[in-house]
Amino acid sequence: MSRATAHVDLEAISHNIRALQKLACGSQFMLAVKSNAYGHGLHEVVRTGLEAGVSSFGVLESTAGIDLRAAGVEVPLFAWMHGQDTDFAAAAEARVDLGVQTFWQLEAIAASGAARTPRVHLKIDTGLHRGGADQPRWAEFVTEALRLQSLGKLEVVAAWSHLSDTSHSADLASAALFEAAVEEARSLGAEFELLHLGASAAVIDLPEAHFDLVRVGIAAYGISPFGDRSAADLGLRPAMQLRAPVLDARHGLASIAVGFGDGIQSDPDSGAYMVVDGHVAPVVEVGVDETVVALPSDADGISAGAPCLVFGDGSQGEATAEQWAVWGDTVGDEIVTGLTSRVPRSFSRR
Ligand SMILES: *Cc1c(COP(=O)(O)O)cnc(C)c1O
Repeated sequence: MSRATAHVDLEAISHNIRALQKLACGSQFMLAVKSNAYGHGLHEVVRTGLEAGVSSFGVLESTAGIDLRAAGVEVPLFAWMHGQDTDFAAAAEARVDLGVQTFWQLEAIAASGAARTPRVHLKIDTGLHRGGADQPRWAEFVTEALRLQSLGKLEVVAAWSHLSDTSHSADLASAALFEAAVEEARSLGAEFELLHLGASAAVIDLPEAHFDLVRVGIAAYGISPFGDRSAADLGLRPAMQLRAPVLDARHGLASIAVGFGDGIQSDPDSGAYMVVDGHVAPVVEVGVDETVVALPSDADGISAGAPCLVFGDGSQGEATAEQWAVWGDTVGDEIVTGLTSRVPRSFSRR
């Protein structure tokens, strides 16, 4: 190992999925694998998810869904972010369900000429304001979808939305708005196989938002969706460990072969540390390719090639990704997803 490497413990992901499935209490479990499975490696995580019994995958973009189909994945796939250049026909033919947020997407899907009828999930904005039909236009949106369905251009299979996770009361209010929107759509003649709303935070804390299916991302990777409870508090195991070797050590300082070019925080708050050969070593400066840490006075004999833990599950005294998120004033999602493509991933089942 000459530079930083991310070690992904697939057994931890499997453990987390099983723990979260219990909390989902019978709702179907969609594992969100966007952004290369939050940096953990798409195909390996999908295989692990299938073994753990997840019922479907959320892929963000339809191209990732098409890739998974081509790799032999047979369970339902759901993509919800589309651009003007999205090939809806290819997505439908690969049996990728499509989240639909706007009128232009409805029309483009209907006009795609797909050899297989596209299956759409209609999204209502329930307050997050990050996509979905606005409430005042929801009835019109549903009516247009049903018109296109009656022409055989698409099939409406689900209604969904996304929570802001800002507060329990805001999310409860969104869940109530969602139910009202579903009732309204039914009164217009819509029939839904599936209703889905909640993500990681709701699986753990908001049974009112479980509906038929939950879409779970960050918690499955062993990172808490909450600021006030850690993964350990929730019984979840961080799946990723970032390791890098020492490049050089002298005069009480060591340079480590990891930097912001690998995606670690460029300017963490003071307090950030790494664990060099078992010794807690405060971060002095993060550069693009190297990080300088201060070695404690009892850390002798450390030389080039010695191992350094940047983050992990904490079992060897190292910080977690959640802790790095605090140092970088961000969320744990950004720490793991932000690792750049030059960081190789290796996989294990402990
Ligand atoms: C990312 C995402 C999820 C998963 O969210 P987590 O908080 O990571 O569990 C679910 N649904 C949608 C629409 C998303 O974009």
